[in-house]
Amino acid sequence: MKVAKTIAEMREFRQETEGTLGFVPTMGYLHDGHMSLVKMAREENQVVAVSIFVNPMQFGPREDFKSYPRDTRRDLALLEPLTDIVFMPSDKDMYPRDYDSWVEVKGLTDVLEGAVRPGHFLGVTTVVAKLFNVVQPDKAYFGQKDAQQVAVIKKMVKDLNMNLEVVTCPTLREKDGLAMSSRNTYLKRGQRQAATVLYKALMLAEELVSRGENDAGAIRLEMKEFIEKEPEANIEYISIADNATLREIHHIKLPALVSMAVKIGKTRLIDNIVLE
Ligand code: AMP
Repeated sequence: MKVAKTIAEMREFRQETEGTLGFVPTMGYLHDGHMSLVKMAREENQVVAVSIFVNPMQFGPREDFKSYPRDTRRDLALLEPLTDIVFMPSDKDMYPRDYDSWVEVKGLTDVLEGAVRPGHFLGVTTVVAKLFNVVQPDKAYFGQKDAQQVAVIKKMVKDLNMNLEVVTCPTLREKDGLAMSSRNTYLKRGQRQAATVLYKALMLAEELVSRGENDAGAIRLEMKEFIEKEPEANIEYISIADNATLREIHHIKLPALVSMAVKIGKTRLIDNIVLE
């Protein structure tokens, strides 16, 4: 496994490699969710590239860029058996002092995470466009865990005629349903159990729909009341939206994206399911 610490090294590797390249962009502190993307990339391609870059541009001023967990040694050991090259550029290489260019996807970024994290998706689309330009993948792998992110990336790739396929991979969960996330490490002992409230609320929505409930507002309300019973939980939003447009719906029409952001103590967690 090669480690490229500069854009120049990554480009050189790409120019010398033959065969299809599968790419998994990450912010590191890898868990089984990330590794499931890497495994998928390994199965579908001759060459596998993984990037580790905690992208400062996608964090708001009051968000956790500085404290975001990092453990490069462990990440590299996990990637070694499955990966041909790890791309770990520096902030300066990605964003030199005179950096001026941004990639913006409108529409899809107005809602959900985009509504509560201004500038977040501008940072995401810009860094992913840059990573795609450097790595030049044939396929790129993203998790359904970040449902809006993968929708926005797919729109960017389509609108800008980027020459690659974006693959969505299912959300990996802990045994009790908590979606795996690097940020789960922030949870204190009592909070870890409280964090299962997100998945339980999603399951509640699924059950209500399967029982024939058709009023999205009523389902949101039941989810809200359920989550509010957990003292550590503070709801940022609960959404039931059209899975293609991400706009809120009043009556259940499938496929629907049920998603939420909930703070458990100080830790902001997101989760979602698609009702088919
Ligand atoms: P991150 O390091 O948080 O930027 O995540 C890198 C990629 O891994 C993104 O495409 C995420 O959607 C994906 N990912 C994160 N957590 C999970 C999970 N629990 N299951 C599947 N994919 C995930």
